[in-house]
Amino acid sequence: KAKEDAGTSFQLYNHNMNLQVNEKIFMENNLRRAIENQELTVYYQPIIDIKTGKIKKAEALVRWEHPEDGIISPAKFIPLAEETGLIIPLGSFVLKEACQQLQDWINMEYHPIEISVNLSAQQFHKSNLKETVDNILDETGLNPELLGLEITESIAIQNVESTISVLNEFKNMKVKILLDDFGTGYSSLSYLVKFAVDIIKIDRSFITNFPHHSKRSAIVSAIIAMANKLTMKTVAEGVESWDKIKCLNEYKCDEAQGYLFSKPIPAKEFENLLKNNIEFKMQA
Ligand code: C2E
Ligand code: MG
Ligand code: MG
Ligand code: MG
Repeated sequence: KAKEDAGTSFQLYNHNMNLQVNEKIFMENNLRRAIENQELTVYYQPIIDIKTGKIKKAEALVRWEHPEDGIISPAKFIPLAEETGLIIPLGSFVLKEACQQLQDWINMEYHPIEISVNLSAQQFHKSNLKETVDNILDETGLNPELLGLEITESIAIQNVESTISVLNEFKNMKVKILLDDFGTGYSSLSYLVKFAVDIIKIDRSFITNFPHHSKRSAIVSAIIAMANKLTMKTVAEGVESWDKIKCLNEYKCDEAQGYLFSKPIPAKEFENLLKNNIEFKMQA
């Protein structure tokens, strides 16, 4: 009896594994085609200056416009892209698109903003990222000081020495570095000293339920105070209500990003915000 069960479960396990492998190959081929067929597009989410209520930056966030399935979120395909190396062409596409878009907006003489682009570990450690960024800045003519690159703590700890040297190269180029999802990774505070980071993005998980949750409030205010002492700026991610803005302002947080202001939107919609010189009333 026991033997029979073992046999059955072994077969099930095997069957599931095959399914997973097939599904992965299917998805990988789909994603490869999507990149070739230009089904990928970039959405933009505004990052707001808490003091003035003006748009300070846009974060570029990739979307997959699938011809049948509609918009697919990056959470569904970035991990696969990472695993298969497709993240390298995908990442270059987003970087190029975002830099070109910002340069177009600058040429239209809208209220000036900066652009922020997410990087993945593969891009950071397994490609000639500096050369790619150099070329894109050249081709688009974008001022390097207007470009920010978002890295996560997990990228940074994969290879500390290489991270330090790549970040220093970007510092020399005057490209800004943002530490994304701060507080959720495994890194130690000493990395804030070693790495040339300009801006800390406080992870959404700390902002959710804050300011009512006293422990989270304490952490948020301590992160901001620490960043200020290190002469780094701070962005609060995932801001969905005004009570948070009031608190963040008291703690001296610089910028805020979240559904309270806008979800990530297509370039044309973002352009309307700039065109109308949108300014949020910081009714804190
Ligand atoms: P992220 O870099 O931390 O980006 C912020 C995510 O939080 C975005 O999700 C955004 O839509 C979401 N968000 C912003 N404000 C709020 C809010 O108020 N409430 C809630 N619930 N969510 C909010 P999205 O666009 O789905 O992207 C998810 C993640 O996928 C990003 O997290 C980033 O890690 C990754 N990603 C997106 N685009 C790219 C890309 O071009 N390259 C790489 N390597 N990763 C990307
Ligand atoms: Mg980000
Ligand atoms: Mg983030
Ligand atoms: Mg995040």
